[in-house]
Amino acid sequence: MIHFVGAGPGAEDLITVRGRRLLREADVIIYAGSLVNPGLLKEAGEACRIYNSAVMTLEEVIAVMKQAEAEGLKTVRLHTGDPCLYGAIREQMDILDRLGIPYESCPGVSSFCAAAAALNLEYTLPEVSQSVVITRMEGRTPVPEKERIASFASHGATMVLFLSTGLLKKLTDQLIAGGYRQDTPAAIVYKATWPEEETHICTVGTLEETAKAYGITKTALIIVGEVVLHQNYERSKLYDPSFTTEYRTAEHPWKQQEAGDGKD
Ligand code: SAH
Repeated sequence: MIHFVGAGPGAEDLITVRGRRLLREADVIIYAGSLVNPGLLKEAGEACRIYNSAVMTLEEVIAVMKQAEAEGLKTVRLHTGDPCLYGAIREQMDILDRLGIPYESCPGVSSFCAAAAALNLEYTLPEVSQSVVITRMEGRTPVPEKERIASFASHGATMVLFLSTGLLKKLTDQLIAGGYRQDTPAAIVYKATWPEEETHICTVGTLEETAKAYGITKTALIIVGEVVLHQNYERSKLYDPSFTTEYRTAEHPWKQQEAGDGKD
């Protein structure tokens, strides 16, 4: 069995309890060495075989999995953050399907959640934004034409940009072309939850100079939108004393305006 496991954003204690158990039980670990905290490998047993996929091709990764499976061993494929975002897991799964090798996934804390935590942000503030667009600038991996930054920017929703730190001038141009102002709040979060974490609040117009000033060229997320400064939002209906929910009756039910929103 192959277990795709989310390692979390960096800090060793931000892997899930299940993920840590799988690491402890693994006979073989293949970890994404460019971003996974190597400290997590301390969880591995003495006899565990450990491979760094940063220096391997897809074919080499699969060959290791195939060999382990032939020996009846348990393999953990350790990906940074949550494997479902920019994890290149599906291509591995499709080959495993063809080979008849079973696999399952264990989620992890994505870096976009860690970046919010680093800034104490709520991405979905009432009356500011109720959506989060997770995307990236086009790099060597193309982004479909319909998913241009400018078209997402036109919604004015919160945006979190992965894999884009080296392209900030272009990013600013595209955000502004889409309708964000130069002074729309933005943030750069470098290595969220690692000891060397840095957070910098800036604006859409100053993203490039801010990254340059602090020497940030990779392993960062860009957050764009009014939620970064969290002004002018409405308080939640869920905790409003005049609002009845599934779990709580309003203090003054006669004041209740409308029912329905928010059960989480
Ligand atoms: N699956 C991962 C993302 C992998 S893509 C996740 O869920 O987080 C790699 C990109 O993620 C990096 O280029 C960077 O943009 C972002 N990233 C990963 N870890 C990060 C961290 N600790 N802090 C800030 N950005 C991070």
